[in-house]
Amino acid sequence: MNAAAAASPPVCRFCGTPLTTTFVDLGETPLANAYLTTEDVATGRERRYPLRARVCGECFLVQVDDSAPPEAIFSDYAYFSSVSASWVEHARRYAEAMIARFGLGAKSLVVEIASNDGYLLQHFVAAGVPALGVEPAANVAQAAIAKGVPTEVAFFNRAAAERLAQRGVSADLVAANNVLAHVPDIRDFVAGFGVLLAPEGVATFEFPHLLNLIREAQFDTIYHEHFAYLSLVAVERIFAASALRAFDVEELATHGGSLRLYACRVEAAHRESAQLANLRAREREAGLAALDAYSGFAPRVEARKRSFLAFLAEARAAGERIAAYGAAAKGATFLNVCGVGASDLVCVFDRSPAKQGKLMPGSRIPILAPETIAEIRPDYLVVLPWNLIDEVRAEMAVIGEWGGRFVVAARETRVIAP
Ligand SMILES: [Zn+2]
Repeated sequence: MNAAAAASPPVCRFCGTPLTTTFVDLGETPLANAYLTTEDVATGRERRYPLRARVCGECFLVQVDDSAPPEAIFSDYAYFSSVSASWVEHARRYAEAMIARFGLGAKSLVVEIASNDGYLLQHFVAAGVPALGVEPAANVAQAAIAKGVPTEVAFFNRAAAERLAQRGVSADLVAANNVLAHVPDIRDFVAGFGVLLAPEGVATFEFPHLLNLIREAQFDTIYHEHFAYLSLVAVERIFAASALRAFDVEELATHGGSLRLYACRVEAAHRESAQLANLRAREREAGLAALDAYSGFAPRVEARKRSFLAFLAEARAAGERIAAYGAAAKGATFLNVCGVGASDLVCVFDRSPAKQGKLMPGSRIPILAPETIAEIRPDYLVVLPWNLIDEVRAEMAVIGEWGGRFVVAARETRVIAP
């Protein structure tokens, strides 16, 4: 037994309770975004870190261990949201809906946390609603300022919110879309909303829903940079600690099933919706407020892995050529946890020029531009971002020309005609 294993268990990121219950242990993997060059492979070893998620028996927050050093996790941060057309469209619809629902106008203020390159706030600015971005990466913030979105370079937490409040910032709407699950100190982060919100202000939080992760065995959404896996049960407790409460929820199809949770100060006038009460009841029915529901996850992960490995063995035995699509974190985790390597898959196609020519972390499968598929001519194309199957089918429809088929390795691995 090594020193780390002999040490006492880590404590909950939110409530400090020792974490004695494992949700799933996915073994040791490299960081999911640590793409390798051929020199990396020739010259050095690849760092791997334990990837283990635990559930807190007190507040039911599911969280991964801090096994990788923060400087490794945050070193390569240069993600520009505007690169994805569907994401910009999602942002435009969000802005329209919020302006209409909360009557936002020239005297309102909208703040976005982790505002990236202004992909979302630009829609408020265009509608004449004052906006302020808060973004930790200075180069990304510059891109937002260049397109007319005022942006503060800061890592958001309680202290940052207090600095803004002292300057008179009081927000009618604060957007935190797909950021809550990625902050190491979730209590300090949420406390900032209690400081920043106007008395009747609204904060919206979007995050993948733990209930879908458990039901669909979405273990490939678990990686070191994704610190927390959230349910309403856990988030309502986290809000309460900062005198906030949820009052409405929408269920979104993004990321395999997400929640958009609406929150306000506990004393604000916003009335609780029937949808919120309904979701709370469904989570309780599913057992998310007791530890038993969480113990069923690891066997589902094993079943999903077995289903994919059985497909792979059969296809390889038949001499089929197999490639994959989508070199993002989800795909990297899936391949590493399944123990799949370059002898199983000929390549992974990805649209990002920054990834092409590199190798997948861990599995070391080469990453190629999608246009090269006509030379590779795979019999099967495994779509690693299963949530984007419709988009990928349309983009890679060419495989029908040589009889190729798509594969989705969801709870059961399925083969789909182009
Ligand atoms: Zn806890």
